[in-house]
Amino acid sequence: MIRTRFAPSPTGALHIGGLRTALFSYLFAKQNNGEFFLRIEDTDKARSKKEWEAVIFENLKELNISWDNEAPRQSERGEIYKKYLQKMLEEGTAYYCFCTKEELDEERDRLMKEERAPIHQGKYRDFGLKNALKKIEEGNHPVIRFKCPLNRDVCFNDLIRGEIKINTSDVGDFIIAKDLDNPLYNLTCAIDDAEMGITHVIRGEEHIPNTPKQILLEEALGFNNIIFAHLSLILGKDKKKLSKREGSTAVSIYLEEGYLPEAIINFIAFLGWNPGTEKEIYSMEELIKDFSIKKISKSGSIFNIDKLDWLNGIYIRNMDLDKLTLRCLPFLKEEEGIDNKKIVLALKDRLKKIKDIKELSNYFYGEEVFYEKELLRWKDMSDEEVKKSLLQAKTLIENIEFNNLQEELIKEAKKSPSIGGFMWPLRVALSGQKASAGPAEIMDIIGKEKSLKRINKAINII
Ligand code: GLU
Repeated sequence: MIRTRFAPSPTGALHIGGLRTALFSYLFAKQNNGEFFLRIEDTDKARSKKEWEAVIFENLKELNISWDNEAPRQSERGEIYKKYLQKMLEEGTAYYCFCTKEELDEERDRLMKEERAPIHQGKYRDFGLKNALKKIEEGNHPVIRFKCPLNRDVCFNDLIRGEIKINTSDVGDFIIAKDLDNPLYNLTCAIDDAEMGITHVIRGEEHIPNTPKQILLEEALGFNNIIFAHLSLILGKDKKKLSKREGSTAVSIYLEEGYLPEAIINFIAFLGWNPGTEKEIYSMEELIKDFSIKKISKSGSIFNIDKLDWLNGIYIRNMDLDKLTLRCLPFLKEEEGIDNKKIVLALKDRLKKIKDIKELSNYFYGEEVFYEKELLRWKDMSDEEVKKSLLQAKTLIENIEFNNLQEELIKEAKKSPSIGGFMWPLRVALSGQKASAGPAEIMDIIGKEKSLKRINKAINII
């Protein structure tokens, strides 16, 4: 059974990169009828916050990425890690290290001067557990290091990058716990991946240096091999690592702005993966079917917000009107006699994101709209001509039923010197905007009385 996991540290918002890790892990598990697990890596007590954890849960749920376990917290698994630490100390695969900060600084400086990698040389490697315990009784506070096998190649076959080989002399005796009650990331991660039965770890390339450490730990603990896949960086348009420069990297911001979950998932899936065909619109179900780890690119992928806007527009236009209206409601005002569903229908083609409707719908509400007189003018019409055109519209509107507005307007426009010269001043009188829904749509929504009021005002202005 294939089992993957997403293991965020709740030290901040869920970012685009984290979401991609979660999505790819989810897709890979689901397409293999496997399980996707969530795990909260909150061993950093100072920086981990329950609020961030809640945001991660909420965002994933909203994006339809569901997990198959109880999402354990590492902070609640202290006893488990302690047992493993004790076992490692007894078996000699880990040891207490009493080096002081000064000693370590001095060692690092010396190695650097000798042009050697600043890898700790393991002064207490062979000190022995008995001696160490005595020293602790005397009041010393050691850390716990992994006893790294000497001069051995650690190889793993990354599903995306192929074979990666690192010699243990470049790893060294790294610290696995500050003490028995304070294990560190590499250890807790290795233990949990094994205990949770994780078969495949998919994560960002920044973790490549951790992988040999975790493989060595799995081995020392007697656990099975795990298969790894490291995703390349997500880059901004400037080809540098994605950062705030490109707008936000926090997933919640995109949700709040009104990017639809389906569009976000579709967009994220293409950050590093593509099906190798022309197909660009993918539902989650289709992704589960077509996603392929083998097709993930080794090079960085570019975060292009224009593409997200484009995709989101497509999803908005294809959405059921009732559902879309429901989504838009938080951004719309309420006014008696105004049917917000009609506003959504009139504006949906212009929306890049749901929140856009807030600005775009303003002119439907309230009695008046405000604009400069000049905006009423179509091309080089004179004031008199504009006025005449508006009066013509007024007379028409006073005398017709509001059923076939569009047809009536066109018929009337054809009688006037130019269609634009009839439609433009009327549309501006109704909306006060350079760009807006068409006059028939607006009048249908705001009704006869309000329409006439606005037209009269325009006649006065001109
Ligand atoms: N807690 C780690 C992080 O948020 C997870 C690393 C991993 O996937 O192993 O970066």
